[in-house]
Amino acid sequence: MVNLARQLRVHWRSPRLWMRLAIGFGALVFIMAAVVVLAVAQFRALGKHGEQMMRQDLQHMLQVQTIDRHVQGHGNAMARLLTSPRSERELIYPDVDAEYAAIEGLIAELAEQRTDPTSSRLLKAVADKGGQYREVFGDIVTEIESGEPDKARAMVNGPGQVAIKALLDASLALQAHAQTALDVRQADIRAQIARSEWLLAVLAMAALALSVGLAWRTTRSVTQPLARVEQAAARIADGDYAVRVEMRSGDELDRVAKAMNSLAAAVAAREVEIENVAYVDRLTGLPNRSQLRRLASGADIGRAVVMLIDVARLRMVNEVLGFETGDALLSQMAERLGAVLAREGEQLDDLTLARMHGGVFAMLSLCSGAAAMERLRDTLDAVATSPLVCGGHAVDIELVYGLADTSQTPGLGIDGLLQRAESALGDAKRQRKRWAWFVPTDDALRTQQLGLLSRLRHAAAAGELEMWLQPKQSIHDGRLLGMEALVRWRHPQRGYMSPAEFIPYAEKTGHIGVVTTAMIDAALRTLAAWARDGRDLSIAVNVSALDLRDDHLVEQLRQLALRHGAPLERLRLEITESTVMDDAEHVLPVLHALRALGVQLSLDDFGTGYSSLAYLRRLPVSELKIDRSFVADADLTPGARALLKTIVDLGHSLGMAVTAEGVERAEELALLASLGCDVAQGYLIARPMSPADAARYVATRLPAAPQLLTT
Ligand code: C2E
Ligand code: CA
Ligand code: CA
Repeated sequence: MVNLARQLRVHWRSPRLWMRLAIGFGALVFIMAAVVVLAVAQFRALGKHGEQMMRQDLQHMLQVQTIDRHVQGHGNAMARLLTSPRSERELIYPDVDAEYAAIEGLIAELAEQRTDPTSSRLLKAVADKGGQYREVFGDIVTEIESGEPDKARAMVNGPGQVAIKALLDASLALQAHAQTALDVRQADIRAQIARSEWLLAVLAMAALALSVGLAWRTTRSVTQPLARVEQAAARIADGDYAVRVEMRSGDELDRVAKAMNSLAAAVAAREVEIENVAYVDRLTGLPNRSQLRRLASGADIGRAVVMLIDVARLRMVNEVLGFETGDALLSQMAERLGAVLAREGEQLDDLTLARMHGGVFAMLSLCSGAAAMERLRDTLDAVATSPLVCGGHAVDIELVYGLADTSQTPGLGIDGLLQRAESALGDAKRQRKRWAWFVPTDDALRTQQLGLLSRLRHAAAAGELEMWLQPKQSIHDGRLLGMEALVRWRHPQRGYMSPAEFIPYAEKTGHIGVVTTAMIDAALRTLAAWARDGRDLSIAVNVSALDLRDDHLVEQLRQLALRHGAPLERLRLEITESTVMDDAEHVLPVLHALRALGVQLSLDDFGTGYSSLAYLRRLPVSELKIDRSFVADADLTPGARALLKTIVDLGHSLGMAVTAEGVERAEELALLASLGCDVAQGYLIARPMSPADAARYVATRLPAAPQLLTT
């Protein structure tokens, strides 16, 4: 009830737009009509009244004037009486009587009319003078009828004239007064008209003012809310979706406002949705790369540090345990990282966590600095790397970090910074380190490397590139199966250099072919020697992507094998997944050509790359080498053991022999044996050894076949 009353009140105070317009314009029409009706009535009344008055006055005038005329007619009849004989006079008397009767009749008529006191007084004077005149005229008639014409004439000229003049004067006075009255009346009517004119003018002005007021109010009641709606629309266009148009009137404009409000809300919701799609990572709900860039592009990144966090072996988990498990792992990892961030947030309030791609997350700090980021990294390592249970599997977590800051390069943008962090992450993975900072290659270092590389060709010619060998042995029966060739550069000044010191740069600068050729040459020579000794051993040589893009490799191999008389089917080439993946179109035909020559192929560092299982099936590869990160301590956690088992089974299902790299502990070897892994390589069996040591090692492990010794 109260509500209804309020509604009614609101309704009354602020009616609907159409009602407001109707009331406004209705009032206008009414006022105008009232003014017109009033004006017409006023003028009509004035006209009628004036006309009536004028008619009365005129009649009055005429009557007064008629008195005059009859007085004169009477006078004339009197004159005729004087000069006429008796016989004729009898005929004149009726005229004389008629004239006088007319005068008296007029006076009586005038007296009957209600007039002003002056008129009455003047009329009375006329009546008196008429009476006096009648007496004089009676005496004159008596004299005439007595036969005293001279006396009568004398009386006419004497008292007769005086009486008639007095009567005429009185009549004239009355006439003059009637004239004045008429003039006064006319002036009065004119004044009334003038007053009416004023009144109408004032009324019209008032109506006009009222109309203007009404029009203004009505227009304002429409334009004001419209202006509010317009302002709101402009703000929505500027991206301020929080704006709401105030609703006050409950009319059509309110409906527009309401529509506007829901439009703003809808646009805001849509915007959020679009933002979510564009800037939020679907899987983890974290900001994605674009969002990270967006956040940073508006900020001062002069002191920013980026730390990329790579969840190692994610691809392996995807391939082996399924994408659902991989996704679950990433989600849980995101939660862990988020939890650490929330905890550390008190000290590092400028941190942003994002998911970049695959298993790579990023932490961006705008101003906390490198030391704080390193502490955060240690915290992450301590709390975020315990095994995760995903899809019923316990999965070991290992995080690899790539860090970069803007030091030494002021003005470096967020893209540059991310690129540096990627590069650092790549370095960390290549060098098998847990983390790496981006190190700007300064000019001195670059020249040094270039100097080193330019010496590489010379080194090969000078025999400085030695082929060291590391044994591979059968897990099933402990038999020595072959060796992996690992290059060592015996640098005259620097001593033995590990491949990590120059292989990456040789690859980058296109000098790797020198190393490959040297290793293949050495391997084939050794293989030829072993063949001559009747030793059924293989040698595996590492080749790079660049080598396989060059189809000279096949021809070169064939000729070298011919020259050394080496059995090509005992040569293995180790390639990594990324080598094939990066340029499959060129690499695949080369691989097939190599197979056609009899060369065996191995897939190195399996599990660290990104190729899909479907793709692996197409590779003409007979051995799969499990990366040592999967082997290390695999016996210690059930998750790692399960993963290792799945990889071994996977290799077998692809029809490949499975080799485990980096076997350092007997427990690992026992586990591998129990899992059915075929071949082991690692420090437990032997470290890579110099050519001389290798010859001795082979001689002890595998004495030369007697039947071949004779040939
Ligand atoms: P890789 O092909 O995975 O070679 C195996 C690496 O693991 C070797 O390091 C070897 O010394 C090391 N290793 C073997 N067993 C164990 C173990 O039980 N524990 C540990 N921690 N490490 C073990 P190395 O000789 O330093 O070679 C590093 C990498 O350099 C190689 O990794 C390979 O990618 C590359 N490389 C070596 N020689 C050549 C070459 O002649 N040509 C090319 N293109 N690359 C080469
Ligand atoms: Ca290898
Ligand atoms: Ca390897």
